[in-house]
Amino acid sequence: NSHNPTADCIFCKIIAGELTSQTIAETDRVIAFRDINPQAPLHALIVPKRHYGDVAQVAGADPELLAEMVSLADEVASEHADGQFRFIFNSGPNAGQSVFHVHGHVLGGTKLGWNPA
Ligand code: 5GP
Ligand code: ZN
Repeated sequence: NSHNPTADCIFCKIIAGELTSQTIAETDRVIAFRDINPQAPLHALIVPKRHYGDVAQVAGADPELLAEMVSLADEVASEHADGQFRFIFNSGPNAGQSVFHVHGHVLGGTKLGWNPA
């Protein structure tokens, strides 16, 4: 189905097992895998298994799913860093979003700088 927005989605393919990733945590509805281009000692992506385009769509459709994403970010930071973390959503191209399947970036494992622009 060429009109299916998930057909060419790389994160849907990772979730389906059609592309490999370094998965580090998983629940029924959310997966965490390492970013292919890490920007910190811990840089994981927290991704709902159901395709939503951006974080506002998740919040509108299923706020409990957003809470599950935050909980998994905290768990990953506790297991793979010191429990402290930054959780970032890039929403829209001008904010740096390049994959249009919602994902939160979990960054940790070091003293982080602050240069968001
Ligand atoms: P965005 O720019 O949309 O906020 O974040 C997309 C992130 O996905 C980038 O940090 C990029 O490095 C990561 N990424 C892109 N393609 C892949 C991939 O195939 N596998 C993994 N693990 N990460 C990816
Ligand atoms: Zn997708």
